[in-house]
Amino acid sequence: MTKRHHHDILVIGSGAAGASLALRLADDYRVAVLSKSSVQSGSTWHAQGGVAAVLDTEDSMESHIQDTLVAGAGLCHEDSVRFTVENGPDVINWLVAQGMDFTRDGQTGEFHLTREGGHSHRRILHTADATGKAVSTTLTERMLAHPNIEVFEDHFLVDLITQSDRNSKTLRCSGAYVLDKNNDEVDVFLAKAVVLATGGASKVYLYSSNPEGASGDGIAAAWRKGCRVANMEFNQFHPTCLFHPAARSFLLTEALRGEGGYLRLPNGERFMKRFHELAELAPRDIVARAIDHEMKRLGVDCLYLDITHKSANFINEHFPTIKQECLKYGIDITKDRIPVVPAAHYTCGGVLVDLKGRTDLKNLYAVGETAFTGLHGANRMASNSLLECLVFAWSAAEHIRQVIDTVPEPAQALLWDESRVTHSDEDVVISHNWDELRRFMWDYVGIVRTRKRLERAEHRIKMLKKEIHEYYSNYKISRDLLELRNLALVAELIIRSAMQRQESRGLHYTLDYPDTSPVARDTILVPINFAAQNLIVHHP
Ligand SMILES: Cc1cc2nc3c(=O)[nH]c(=O)nc-3n(C[C@H](O)[C@H](O)[C@H](O)COP(=O)(O)OP(=O)(O)OC[C@H]3O[C@@H](n4cnc5c(N)ncnc54)[C@H](O)[C@@H]3O)c2cc1C
Repeated sequence: MTKRHHHDILVIGSGAAGASLALRLADDYRVAVLSKSSVQSGSTWHAQGGVAAVLDTEDSMESHIQDTLVAGAGLCHEDSVRFTVENGPDVINWLVAQGMDFTRDGQTGEFHLTREGGHSHRRILHTADATGKAVSTTLTERMLAHPNIEVFEDHFLVDLITQSDRNSKTLRCSGAYVLDKNNDEVDVFLAKAVVLATGGASKVYLYSSNPEGASGDGIAAAWRKGCRVANMEFNQFHPTCLFHPAARSFLLTEALRGEGGYLRLPNGERFMKRFHELAELAPRDIVARAIDHEMKRLGVDCLYLDITHKSANFINEHFPTIKQECLKYGIDITKDRIPVVPAAHYTCGGVLVDLKGRTDLKNLYAVGETAFTGLHGANRMASNSLLECLVFAWSAAEHIRQVIDTVPEPAQALLWDESRVTHSDEDVVISHNWDELRRFMWDYVGIVRTRKRLERAEHRIKMLKKEIHEYYSNYKISRDLLELRNLALVAELIIRSAMQRQESRGLHYTLDYPDTSPVARDTILVPINFAAQNLIVHHP
């Protein structure tokens, strides 16, 4: 039976961004939080490194701001960077007040701060090497214990619901159609404020470090309702993910190379010296690009990371987790080379928002990896993303609190109509298209791009979208179909953005335009049904 749900605030996504926003408001409002799978299934749980914030007396806000601007290759919005960095210590204190247990220095009892690539000071708070798991567990426990928060697992956002304001005729968001996977019915969720916190879109690529659900659903849903998206061409790739058919999304830390691991071709040759004087210790993007180049040149499925020249004792002491994980797939890293591929890791672009998390559509907010805040520019600096989740969740919550009493109650929405669709008897169409999409995105719109490759991808995406649309119109929806539909749309947005950027900058590298243009501009795509015609969006 189709259900109607009514809350003050609907939060779609239960990762760091969605969960912290819900907790910020729950003492005063009734909040629904949706997750398309289990409550801890997003990327947040997988974060290893930590959260960046200025807490050391030797460190400074200016330094964190400058480091972020440098990493972003001239494309960060300085006001967004400043806003995020300056609010960092407050959100960390809030997280600690929720029960977050960051690792502390054994002697001083102060937070233990580590340093990561791009940061010129020690400023990464962490919980051993599993920070995301600790953030996710802390926030989830608080949400589940809160009487005003209702968590809906296995509830999948299909599309947003909009209605017109009677007075101004502007559209506003008033809820969402949501597939309840427990009974395959599409429910109606209504709320005065709706928040997209659905994470990134890295699953658009064949190889990804992200969990299964990173299919850009929030970005696609916002675009369909007339919201602009920005800088979708900037996808961050991690250079080394374990390549094995059964090993999904297992990252091999850069410390393996830091401690002397070599990258080798299938014939055993070391090749990194040809690409950078620091060889295996070159910056992340250069290593990813070099691996991609060699794989394409040789037409092979993977290259190899080799640490067998170090003693078994050294490996066991430094990399016990990686050793155990690889052993599960029959690879003993003390004796065997590890097969590796680069993997899509982070979506820098997303739904365009202002410093309050507001999108182009009234009463619709976007926070976390789904959003484009201007913080990351052309390249994300390590550990800034969890910080962004926490800061923008707070600022969006503050804005919702200010305006919610002025928002009219949502009008009743039509129920989902399935009278003209049937059950599919050809699910192979979905799995085939899913594979094809992720493979051509990897081959043509991956780490190294060319105009020709992008044109090939554009051609294919048009045909795929047509096929998916027909399928969507005729058959009952399923999670796989919805994800495919969203991935195809997000892929198209990435291709269009990449074609518009006629330069190489940060994570976007094209052989046709290898130089960086003197003028830095965002790639902002505007949908034909642009929602903000009557709405002023304050954006930097
Ligand atoms: C392996 C790995 C390591 C990382 N390490 C770090 C690190 O050390 N430091 C750092 O700052 N960042 C790190 N990141 C990035 C960071 O983890 C993410 O950017 C961040 O956690 C995103 O949080 P989020 O709340 O936006 O989304 P997520 O945590 O991805 O949560 C998304 C939520 O949305 C829900 N959802 C999605 N689609 C739908 C739908 N259609 N309907 C209903 N619900 C939906 C999901 O179920 C989930 O609950 C890492 C990422 C990975 C993958």
